[in-house]
Amino acid sequence: MRYLVAANWKMNKTVGETLEYLDRFLPSVKDLLSVDIMIAPPFTALSSASIRLDAAKKEGEYNVKLGAQNMYYVEKGAFTGEISPVMLNELDVEYVILGHSERRHIFGEKDDLINKKVITAVETGIRPILCVGETLEEREQGKTLSVVERQIRNGLAGVEKDMAFIDIAYEPVWAIGTGVNATPEQAQEVHRFIRSLINEISKGNDSNTRILYGGSVNEKNARDLIKEPNVDGFLVGTASLDPERFYKIITEV
Ligand code: PGA
Repeated sequence: MRYLVAANWKMNKTVGETLEYLDRFLPSVKDLLSVDIMIAPPFTALSSASIRLDAAKKEGEYNVKLGAQNMYYVEKGAFTGEISPVMLNELDVEYVILGHSERRHIFGEKDDLINKKVITAVETGIRPILCVGETLEEREQGKTLSVVERQIRNGLAGVEKDMAFIDIAYEPVWAIGTGVNATPEQAQEVHRFIRSLINEISKGNDSNTRILYGGSVNEKNARDLIKEPNVDGFLVGTASLDPERFYKIITEV
């Protein structure tokens, strides 16, 4: 399995800043083909990033894919402010982050909406990265595994047979943007549980599914986290905003 290191820029970077980043970042990952790299800029910068990546790929070997941070689950229509999978497809977006904790907790997305998006992404040929993770309160109440199980079973309902096309990101809410990452042992405990769960629900069709860890990943903790047998890559927020830091994380994988 090829590991995946994904950058989630969230609501950061203008078009100009995106192009400046790519100018610094792309030369560092030329010919680095052993790991899958994904960058998810905000929607407004996707088109420019897509053109820039396309140009780079004409000049050399790059394994950098484009991702979106969200999408709606229908093709088109009266959904003010939303972006459809067809629009993402047109820009060669290959991945979409779905069910991120900020979508769940700030924007109120529930499992059934996230599930519809996952289904549509699979049908459209965009690889979903389904994000799951418990809050601090849920962890303290001993509910971590049951919360993650619910989010995975509900999020993947109807696409279990397509598991090979789906990646999972375990992102404990208390670790996101806080500077407090899960310890390698804490991550491994949940990742092992997720691996056995998706193995069960997909009837063994999960060998291509990466289980990413996310939550305060940086160039210092990446090496210890990736040593864990069920950690197959990272979803990186803050530390991905700087091209040199993101590159260092990739080299630890
Ligand atoms: P962080 O964000 O690396 O800033 O903690 C991770 C994420 O939300 O995907």
